[in-house]
Amino acid sequence: MSETSVKYVFITGGVVSSLGKGLASASLASLLISRGFKVRLRKLDPYLNVDPGTMSPFQHGECFVTDDGAETDLDLGHYERFTGVAAKKTDNVTTGKIYSEVLEKERKGDYLGATIQVIPHVTDAIKSFITSEIKDEDFVLCEIGGTVGDIESLPFIEAIRQLRNELGAFKSCFLHVTLVPFINAAQELKTKPTQHSVKELQGMGIQPDILLCRSEVPIPTDQKNKIALFCNLDKSSVIEAPDVKSIYEVPIKYHESRLDLQILKHFNLKNIKKANLKVWKNIIKTQRESEGFVNIGVVGKYTSIIDSYKSLIEALTHGGFFNKTKVDIKWIDAEQLEKSSSCENIFRDVHGILVPGGFGERGALGKINAIQYARLNKIPFFGICLGMQLAVIEFAKNVIKVKNAYSTEFGKTSFPIISLLTEWMTKDGIEIRDLKSQYGGTMRLGSYECHLKENSKIIKIYNKNVIHERHRHRYEVNMSLCNGFEENGLIFSGLSPNKELPEILELRDHPWYIGVQFHPELKSKPFDPHPLFSSFIKASLDKSRLL
Ligand code: GLN
Repeated sequence: MSETSVKYVFITGGVVSSLGKGLASASLASLLISRGFKVRLRKLDPYLNVDPGTMSPFQHGECFVTDDGAETDLDLGHYERFTGVAAKKTDNVTTGKIYSEVLEKERKGDYLGATIQVIPHVTDAIKSFITSEIKDEDFVLCEIGGTVGDIESLPFIEAIRQLRNELGAFKSCFLHVTLVPFINAAQELKTKPTQHSVKELQGMGIQPDILLCRSEVPIPTDQKNKIALFCNLDKSSVIEAPDVKSIYEVPIKYHESRLDLQILKHFNLKNIKKANLKVWKNIIKTQRESEGFVNIGVVGKYTSIIDSYKSLIEALTHGGFFNKTKVDIKWIDAEQLEKSSSCENIFRDVHGILVPGGFGERGALGKINAIQYARLNKIPFFGICLGMQLAVIEFAKNVIKVKNAYSTEFGKTSFPIISLLTEWMTKDGIEIRDLKSQYGGTMRLGSYECHLKENSKIIKIYNKNVIHERHRHRYEVNMSLCNGFEENGLIFSGLSPNKELPEILELRDHPWYIGVQFHPELKSKPFDPHPLFSSFIKASLDKSRLL
């Protein structure tokens, strides 16, 4: 289809947050893709941070990194996992970013002396973001973060209202996700919050075209009809979205509720290919028929907020799909392991130990103890980013016997085996890290090439010798201090193309001990589990059979 025929679906949320708007958008995209359409997903975030890179995982959950190095909202992870389409820098924007662009233009005098206002300058910037870089996409699904009625989201709502006027109803659709709560005392579903939320939208000039009603239980027809009547909608435009056991059931459930059909009907699209849901049916079947069981101990700092490890949890689940195995995660707060004697107790029922990415010194000692325990007791160990850096520190301290080995991220040390390097290779040449620059956006970010060593364990896992994985870190393993590692069994089996940055390590005499400087969890899909996670779960399964 040509640029002019692209169709926009704007997804808003009402009543409460955490309704799963991101999952709804991702699932709708997967249904449209299954009918042969080309789809792009975008997310507009109303907060004032320029990107989520500087936000605490405790507050905002995981920061998802794209191939082209953008630090984005975790919903982009859902988008990729459900569609297989790699998200780009230009698929996530925040109020902070929009305002900084507007203000930069103002400083340059680009507005020729005009008074800068939310309407039209900010709304114009939002509209040009939404419609930018569209080539041959059939659909752009654009999710507005937050809940309708929030002060922050007003300019975004206004921008999509204007776009509707410009594009017309056959090229734009408003999909509003709401909640229909079940009130236990009355044993009834309540439609009032949905009515109010739609009223709120109408007050801002938007009449939703389709309502997606989240509820704990199926919504009876008379209740759906009531919503349609009060919300000025056709009955078929009120779609139920009851809770499901696994997020991977959502696409099929929405198809059964006719969400994709309703979208096609709205755009007057006829004779469209039937939805091919084989992929999703297979995933559900695998999930239901999984017989094995492994318990993975994840040792981290943000273990109380599981959104902080969203992609990691999904990647472990995908590794389980590959092995037809159910994966349980035992969350272990690293600070609990500061006494190495507590490892034995805590890891007794664990078949694999994973130390994920993280920032800062807190919990580092506990993580080092966990890594040592996995190394000595031959428990499968997977270290990701900070987890890999700490594995290097553990080895230097306990095997090479350099007591002061540490990371400069945690303070001054006489043996900075993990340190801030100021330059690295990108495909466009050498990238210089400016140490005086700001905190935000100063990490090695995005996809980098890595070369795997012949005859290594890792090359067998990937089954290729050049890989591309996504990074998000400031510090690197300082190779010049790694004397004695290989002789003692710790091999750097993946290196940057210039051979200066160790990207992967593995331990020779251990069933499965791998550390990676990148984040493989970001690229795993339910229909294409990441080989590292498949292999780690397989090794953990083997371990469980020995216990
Ligand atoms: N804090 C470490 C660094 O910045 C690791 C980052 C991470 O685990 N993502 O290098």
